[in-house]
Amino acid sequence: MNSHQINIQPFSEWNPAGDKQLLIAGPCSAESEMQVLTTAAQLVEHNVNIFRAGIWKPRSKPYTFRGCGEIGFSWLKKVKREFQFPIAVEVMSANELKIALDNEVDYIWLGARTTINPYMLDELAKGLENTDIPVFIKNPISPDLDMLIGAIERINSAGIKKIAVIHRGFQSVYSAPYRNEPLWDIPIKLKCQYQDLPIICDPSHIAGDTQYIEEIIKKALTLEISGLMIEVHAHPSDALSDSKQQLSPQQFGKILQNVDFQNRRKRTSNNTPEKEAALMKINSQRQLIDIYDEQIIKLLAQRFEAVKEIGKIKKGVDIPALQSNRWNAVMKQCLSLGNELGLSDEFVTNLMELIHKQSIDLQ
Ligand code: PEP
Ligand code: MN
Repeated sequence: MNSHQINIQPFSEWNPAGDKQLLIAGPCSAESEMQVLTTAAQLVEHNVNIFRAGIWKPRSKPYTFRGCGEIGFSWLKKVKREFQFPIAVEVMSANELKIALDNEVDYIWLGARTTINPYMLDELAKGLENTDIPVFIKNPISPDLDMLIGAIERINSAGIKKIAVIHRGFQSVYSAPYRNEPLWDIPIKLKCQYQDLPIICDPSHIAGDTQYIEEIIKKALTLEISGLMIEVHAHPSDALSDSKQQLSPQQFGKILQNVDFQNRRKRTSNNTPEKEAALMKINSQRQLIDIYDEQIIKLLAQRFEAVKEIGKIKKGVDIPALQSNRWNAVMKQCLSLGNELGLSDEFVTNLMELIHKQSIDLQ
């Protein structure tokens, strides 16, 4: 468990969507003035809050498109003027950060290849001192929660209090059919540890392919997420980076509609008195569940202590651990009690088999 406190500003105070879920969209990379302007024009009707575009791209191969560089800022300034979108770009060094700040960028994000590197983070943290720019921190490439918490701490220690994490999945041999494995338990653990920390989901980099984006958004929306960052390109097939995962503005609109995003955002923003009352009731039930869970674990520990005692006695007189008669009797008794109390045979059987296996292993 990490002991350092992070000190961040409540998300609703700096979220451009107020108390609604944040929607960030835009191309993987800024490629031309025409491309960013036509993409932005088609995002206006979808209530996008922040326009994203990569200016410098950390690509795997050196001879691929590595970003348009500084000229892109003149295009993004036009997006900002013409469509009133605040702008977010990725920065990887203090130098890039300075150029971004000089060019009126409103938000920055740190990419997965930066969050993995403590030296780059220290350099960026130094550059962030005495600024107030909000920072989105993508999870590191590998599923290392401490590394991610360390990145948050480093940026926070520079005095940055407007921080959100972007969950974009993890590189893994088990990621198929996705590009990155979601490992949802990692953002959930992070949220349990830092309840005020907003977590935004980036389904584009988890999916790696447009066909999976909708299902990933649906899953993300069942968790406590504070928004989405989605890659959208006016002509995805012509994109110079991440072509397969970028949605056209039409596909983007369709998916938002399919997952009922705009209505959901409204609902989560206005808690009615009925909803507040329901939440209170749920909360007290959850407190009960916590108490029962504690009892279950303590009882199991006691059961295994007894099992170990029997094990010692059996060893002394050379009796094997598995006594099938006894086991059948235990199962029968539990199934009948379960039946009386409304538990299914399947559940009782699975549970008791798991407990029995552990008991045999302990002997
Ligand atoms: C991006 O957002 O385009 C990007 C490079 O993302 P990541 O750092 O998550 O790979
Ligand atoms: Mn990308």
